[in-house]
Amino acid sequence: MSEFLQRYSIIALLLVIGCSLSYIAFTAINYYESQYSQQQFQAKFQGKVTSLSQAASAINKVFLATKAVLDINHELTREEFAKLITKDFLLDTGMQGIEWAPSIAIEDIPSFENEVRASGVFDFQVRNTYTTENTTCKNSNIFPVLFAEPADIIGHELGLQIDGDCSLSEKMNLALLSENIVSVNFTNQQGEFGLRLLKPVFTTTSKERKKVLIGYIIGIAMLNELVDSLWGDLINSKDNQLLIYSHNNKKQKIYDSRWREECGFYCPPEPSFLHLQTTIPFANQLWIIEFSKLTEAKHRQYYSYAVALFILLLSMSVIVYLWTSMNRINWANKLVRQRTESLQYQATHDDLTQLLNKQSLSDVLEKTITQKRRVTGEGVALVFIDLDNFKKVNDTQGHLVGDILLKKVAKRLLKAARADDLIFRFGGDEFAMILHGTNDERTLISISDRILKSLEKAYFIENKKYHIGASIGISLWNPFNDKNIGSNELIRNADISMYEAKNQGRGRVVFYHEKMHEQLVYKNDIEDELSAAIKNNELTLFLQPIHDINNLQGFEALSRWQHPNKGMIYPDIFIDIAEKTGLIHSLGYWLIMSTCRQLASWIEQFGVDNCPYISINISPIQLDQGEVVQQIEQALKQYNVPSKLLTVELTESALINKKAAVKQRLSKLQYLGVRIFLDDFGTGYSSLSLLQDFTIDVLKIDRSFILGLEKNNKNSQQLVKAIIKMAHALNMKVVAEGVEHRNTLYWLKNERCDFMQGYYFSKPLSPEKLPGYLTTYLTIKKPLAIVASS
Ligand code: C2E
Ligand code: CA
Ligand code: CA
Repeated sequence: MSEFLQRYSIIALLLVIGCSLSYIAFTAINYYESQYSQQQFQAKFQGKVTSLSQAASAINKVFLATKAVLDINHELTREEFAKLITKDFLLDTGMQGIEWAPSIAIEDIPSFENEVRASGVFDFQVRNTYTTENTTCKNSNIFPVLFAEPADIIGHELGLQIDGDCSLSEKMNLALLSENIVSVNFTNQQGEFGLRLLKPVFTTTSKERKKVLIGYIIGIAMLNELVDSLWGDLINSKDNQLLIYSHNNKKQKIYDSRWREECGFYCPPEPSFLHLQTTIPFANQLWIIEFSKLTEAKHRQYYSYAVALFILLLSMSVIVYLWTSMNRINWANKLVRQRTESLQYQATHDDLTQLLNKQSLSDVLEKTITQKRRVTGEGVALVFIDLDNFKKVNDTQGHLVGDILLKKVAKRLLKAARADDLIFRFGGDEFAMILHGTNDERTLISISDRILKSLEKAYFIENKKYHIGASIGISLWNPFNDKNIGSNELIRNADISMYEAKNQGRGRVVFYHEKMHEQLVYKNDIEDELSAAIKNNELTLFLQPIHDINNLQGFEALSRWQHPNKGMIYPDIFIDIAEKTGLIHSLGYWLIMSTCRQLASWIEQFGVDNCPYISINISPIQLDQGEVVQQIEQALKQYNVPSKLLTVELTESALINKKAAVKQRLSKLQYLGVRIFLDDFGTGYSSLSLLQDFTIDVLKIDRSFILGLEKNNKNSQQLVKAIIKMAHALNMKVVAEGVEHRNTLYWLKNERCDFMQGYYFSKPLSPEKLPGYLTTYLTIKKPLAIVASS
């Protein structure tokens, strides 16, 4: 969330900066442009005003020049005047023409008219166009236009009595008084503005040296033409307005650039953006020039808009770029995160079942323990589940079926577990569960039973039904007692208890206790040291006598390990290990050699005929490899022992697998003359077909049945009887193992059991005790019953 805000706040900030910049740019450019265009406008205005002033002074000059000519010669002829006032003369002055109106006494008008007509202007007549007869402006002299040049432009004014208009007459008087140029405004029929400029011309009488008015020079200037020629580029558009006022006593509009519009001279004022004003002197007047800009210069705003837009676009593109880069970085980060997560998932999960894997077990367990130790004070139970018979399915049906089966097992475990239980695949067909918050064995047993029941139900794969089971080992972690126990120890303990469950016969739940570890350590030590012990001759041959009803017949060889620190170690401990580690072969070899050496020494001592036989135990693994046959053959040869003195004890399990090979090896032994004893008969597979397939010389009835006899167990009695009968029927002899009491001996004797072995006669004899026993039973040849009763 904060990352999101951070990202968006940068974008928002950029947006604000972009907008502000473009606004500032807009305002600044607008301001500078307006300043600039104002300056431009002012400069233009000044230029125009200057040219207007120049025109005014040109008009002045034209007047002065005309006056100068008239001053020199006021008897100027029409032709001379026409030559003076040409179009060229008036060029660029804004003047239409110049008239000369001489002063004529009213009574002289007819003669004046005649005189003019005589000079060539035949229709000349003094006219007063101003209809109203105004007495106030009546003078003794009148001023009719005598010359009007250029004639084609203003010729029609010939004869016009200028002073007939009272307002003009007033101005003429004003000019007379000021002896200067006086202007009078007029508007013609087309609505155009015009100016009449009046300048009196005097002469001085030669006698009295008195100034006498002889007439007026009248200039006609059309203001609109003059202004158009000078200001045309500015006032032809509706953007600008030029107003000219003449100021004498009062302000009077004499020109409006909007004169062509309908409103004409009376157009209402319009709002202006820029207003400039100046005055210029003109003749006797002061002209007030007002110039207004009615519309703003659009291009100025265009610039501002363009620059603002450009900045806005620029910042937008920066924002877009940033946005996409951020998104790209974000996307890349997301991808990296996803990849990391997926790698982490792969590293912590099992590919097949998607359960947590072995690696995560110790991590999770360590974390759980640390947490419980610190915070909750709750216990943890680690449950190890090993599938029974899975290997068989996997080996016979192939890995594909095995994999499907494992997946189904994972599903069932998930279903059987509680929500906060964690399930792991520890490897192969081993699973583990961490159960929180319970150390109560009864609860754990009920959970484990639920798991076992769920796993034991049939599995259907590709229309086939499979049954597997499981063994469960549980190690508990108690926050108060097991403070120093870590995850690795807990895992090891669960593993040990799981193996114990397997050893105890599968489908069981076994809780870990410390002795298990001790035993394991003990076994491990034995495993480590056994090889050296065999090599260093630390094993000893103990011999347990086998008697028939009267005499000692032979011995069973039982190995013992006299450990320097651990004391006497019995074969039920080390034979298992020897079988697992493969040391059974060297142990077997040692046994064969030691036995033959023993027999050789007895033969020497007692002679072949008096020599008891020795029966050796052969492990199924030894028989499986086959070398045991050669070892026996070689040992018999080496010690020159007759084969009848050596017998071999096999359990039923040795005959189950690879029957043909086993049969061949046994035949070889029997061919050599070695007899075969079937050991622990009745406890293993006890398939009678074994007795049919293999030629067995002697059956050894297992000690458990003899124990039954001693307890007067009827079933045991029936069974033993049956075994003896069956053996005899099949031409086999019978040895009863574990005979401890005299009653048992008698019972067996009664049932015609051939041989007996057990503590009643003797425990397995150490080499030290052996000579005494031999002396007693070989040399004296005491009948057994006497020995037993004595
Ligand atoms: P096993 O072949 O059944 O040997 C008989 C076991 O029963 C011996 O235990 C013996 O001490 C014990 N026993 C004999 N009579 C009595 C009795 O009256 N009462 C009781 N309670 N026990 C009696 P041991 O010596 O501990 O041997 C255990 C097993 O180890 C043997 O069972 C045998 O299968 C195996 N074994 C011993 N030595 C060797 C060996 O050198 N090679 C191999 N492959 N196996 C051996
Ligand atoms: Ca035996
Ligand atoms: Ca036995």
